[in-house]
Amino acid sequence: MPEIQRVINYGLRAFLLIALFVALPRAQTPPKGLSLPSQTTAQVAIIPLGTQVSLRQQSWVLWMLARQGWSHWRWFPPQALPPTSYSKRFRRYRAERLTDFLAKHYRRKARWVIGITNEDISTELRGFLDHAVLGLTDPTHATIVLSSARLPKKTWEVAWRSLILHEWGHLFGLVHCPDASCVMFDRLGQDPALAWSEHFCASCEQQLRTAQKGPFPQVQKKPIPLKSGR
Ligand SMILES: [Zn+2]
Ligand SMILES: [Zn+2]
Repeated sequence: MPEIQRVINYGLRAFLLIALFVALPRAQTPPKGLSLPSQTTAQVAIIPLGTQVSLRQQSWVLWMLARQGWSHWRWFPPQALPPTSYSKRFRRYRAERLTDFLAKHYRRKARWVIGITNEDISTELRGFLDHAVLGLTDPTHATIVLSSARLPKKTWEVAWRSLILHEWGHLFGLVHCPDASCVMFDRLGQDPALAWSEHFCASCEQQLRTAQKGPFPQVQKKPIPLKSGR
């Protein structure tokens, strides 16, 4: 019985994902030929961390992949956030432990791994041991973690798309861009009212295209030890 429940559950989710794509605004409709989440080999693994991650959040990741020309992705069932990634001291999840966790468990299943959470995440940054971040990319292990916890409530979707594109850029070696209208601009410490960009500037776009066409990232094959809670 639970097995049937699971099949129905996944079937329903797959249907909702398709329905969502149909419902997306025309200008943002993914190109034809977008694959369904039933492939056994994939370029990109997408993992919701926790059960509260919405289909809409996930679908924007797929939108980004389609936009960048990747259609071989694989969607995984929601995975609980590992307790070892929670910092009791800072009372939130550590972004780098989440990327380590994703790399350890999903890197063999796909070339790149994207985890999505609604939990607040932080990492050591700019001299602070506990600096909140919206996302973190580990290019060495080809892993990204995205958090929606700090996005503006009303305009979260544009911010979410901007965040996804930004981290994808980091995955391919792009650094922060001085152009405030470029999606690779670093928003940390800037005016929060600054418009969210959904576009790479000409220079970043060129770099990304070159990087995506070039050799895939060299990824360490040895297992990654999970760090104990701080
Ligand atoms: Zn960045
Ligand atoms: Zn740029």
